[in-house]
Amino acid sequence: MSVLRFNLVQEAFSHKAVPADIPAKKVSDYYGIHVFHRETMSKYLPGNIYNQLLKDIDSGKALNITMANHLAKAMKIWAMELGVTHYTHWFHPLTDGTAEKHDALIQLEESGRVIEAFNGSLLIQQEPDASSFPSGGIRNTFEARGYSAWDPSSPAFVVDDTLCIPTIFISYTGEALDYKTPLIKAISAVGKAAAETCRFFYPEVKKVNSNLGWEQEFFLVDEALWSARPDLMMCGRTLMGHEAAKNQQLDDHYFGTIPKRVVEFMKELEYEAYKLGIPLKTRHNEVAPNQFELAPIYEETNLAVDHNLLLMDIMNKVAPKHHFKVLLHEKPFDGVNGSGKHCNWSLSTDAGLNVFSPGKTAEGKLMFTVFLVNTLMAVHKHNALLKASVASAGNARRLGLNEAPPAIVSVFLGSQLSDILDKMAESTAEEAIQIDPRGVLRLDVGQIPELMLDNTDRNRTSPFAFTGNRFEFRALGSSANCASAMIVLNTAVAGQLMDFNAALNAKMAAGESKEKAVFSILRQYIRESKPIRFEGNGYSDEWKAEAAKRGLDCENSVPLQYDAYLRPSSIALFEQTEVLNSKELYARNEVKWETYTKKVQIEARVLGDLALNHINPVAIRYQSSLLDNLYKLKSLFSAEEYEELAQAKLQKVRIIEQYTDEIQQLVESMVDARKVANKIEDDREKAIAYHDTVEPFLDEIRQYIDKLELMVDNELWPLPKYRELLFIK
Ligand code: ADP
Ligand code: MG
Repeated sequence: MSVLRFNLVQEAFSHKAVPADIPAKKVSDYYGIHVFHRETMSKYLPGNIYNQLLKDIDSGKALNITMANHLAKAMKIWAMELGVTHYTHWFHPLTDGTAEKHDALIQLEESGRVIEAFNGSLLIQQEPDASSFPSGGIRNTFEARGYSAWDPSSPAFVVDDTLCIPTIFISYTGEALDYKTPLIKAISAVGKAAAETCRFFYPEVKKVNSNLGWEQEFFLVDEALWSARPDLMMCGRTLMGHEAAKNQQLDDHYFGTIPKRVVEFMKELEYEAYKLGIPLKTRHNEVAPNQFELAPIYEETNLAVDHNLLLMDIMNKVAPKHHFKVLLHEKPFDGVNGSGKHCNWSLSTDAGLNVFSPGKTAEGKLMFTVFLVNTLMAVHKHNALLKASVASAGNARRLGLNEAPPAIVSVFLGSQLSDILDKMAESTAEEAIQIDPRGVLRLDVGQIPELMLDNTDRNRTSPFAFTGNRFEFRALGSSANCASAMIVLNTAVAGQLMDFNAALNAKMAAGESKEKAVFSILRQYIRESKPIRFEGNGYSDEWKAEAAKRGLDCENSVPLQYDAYLRPSSIALFEQTEVLNSKELYARNEVKWETYTKKVQIEARVLGDLALNHINPVAIRYQSSLLDNLYKLKSLFSAEEYEELAQAKLQKVRIIEQYTDEIQQLVESMVDARKVANKIEDDREKAIAYHDTVEPFLDEIRQYIDKLELMVDNELWPLPKYRELLFIK
């Protein structure tokens, strides 16, 4: 092992578990103490103001300045008690992660004295000098006037010495430059449409919430080893590295105990998360070595998205205390599973009724069927769009690899529900829906059971599975903002429910009974959306052929997947639901294409550098030592003996020559391809060029490097190997 690598591994092994720094208290004693939630608000605000404020927030009304001033004053007092000195508008730009610009709470008085100040206008609005955030050309640099505005539906919180105010981020002309703005609109659209749907069955329903429970997968590596891998540091994934002899084939990690050092990291992470009101519930090992998962109790979608972003942030902050680096990339290592972020999604009424739970009554079961079938329709109509919502350069390395859902969106219902729907589609209204002499509704076709628990999770290969009382969208990448998928899913279902509500109202206005009208609409929907239902093995080649025949989107190129956002049906959907307009959709796609290009560009640069400056020189040094040895053999042995002795080594010398030469040439060709692509002005065309002509080099070059890794003297190899990165505890 090279001296450097030896030292690094020694250092990594010397990192012992550091006890998590947590006070000896019950979780309930510190849960949410860093959140300005309602209970805190009620303590710091006069009663009448507090009541008015709740009314305004719940009705989605904009805050007036007097109200905002009261709130800001209360927030300042509360935050300063926690040692806060700064505040920031915390928003979700179109890059991964979050953005914040910290301003001190101080204000200079005329006398030269400094006081702590924070007022309503600072709370409501800020103009971050944010010209460098991606905007897809909506906001040119010279008119860099984007502004952030408070989102009262998610509470302010404190991280370290800073009061963070969750905000939306929009251009001066009102276009969304972030994820939160369209997310809030999508949630509102689906809430409105779904409440209307619910009222056909339960007239008292006022409000429907969208719920999200994410499951965050990630890898941990020792920071000493991480710092010796420029690819991990700059790209978040290894661009080279031969598989370790042992990786996940024994399935021993998934059920194994969590290593002590990791447990201490998790405990501290949970402590920080609990203070911020993130309700983490489960932690466990994942399939690959050093891979883990955290999942919270589900929450209202906007809050759940904030909490996921916040968690990713604190993961990165807590990890170094335990000498770890967190890898959120979708595919940090070849040959072992990648990381995703399952999104468990449901809708529930203000009375707490989950529309995806069939319940006891026939009325409830009929409503359940309505929501189920409308979701099928939404996913069917917009399957390409849903796929585009999870598409990224990183996720493309995971999807479709027999470890993650295929890159084709389909829905798994389980045979029980699937049979019920099929029967319904074939039967008459009289067979399906009966009203008994007392006027009570009965659903006769395929009895829908009260609970579907046996139905859960049977098919891990499905990207969109019904799991008993919710849908689980499993295609999102681990580093992504859940909002991307949640915007599309909630919008698609909102649009679909709007259509359903209109169709049902029209039929009822024409004199049809509600039950019959519902049934005839559903029957048509079940038939129409049939191609999206797939119960079989999503990994099989037959499915790919079958899906194409069914007309499902099978596009594999990420830049082309993004086209789905600009289909007429997608633009119509986003405009019908008022979530995004076409100008915003075009601008956001530019950002997506640009981000894709940049990711591949950076990987290509890093790989080129590593290949030519780290790998080839070492391989050539090893080759020289072989040649040196051959010369010595030649001088000692007879020509005949030498002939025999030298065979294997000569062959090795030739192979190294060939591989290093291939690497040199491939890197040169990759640079040429990049130069050609860089000249392209159009973002879409450029991304396509990067996908088609640059990216293929990454895997090709790596193949030769990985072969060299097996040949070259271990002592010379400059980079920590997979067996070191993946098995350090
Ligand atoms: P599994 O690990 O088998 O997928 P879990 O029971 O751990 O299932 O749940 C995974 C996630 O689903 C958790 O975040 C959980 O809170 C969430 N979840 C459970 N019920 C619902 C629901 N009705 N709506 C949305 N998310 C839900
Ligand atoms: Mg799950």
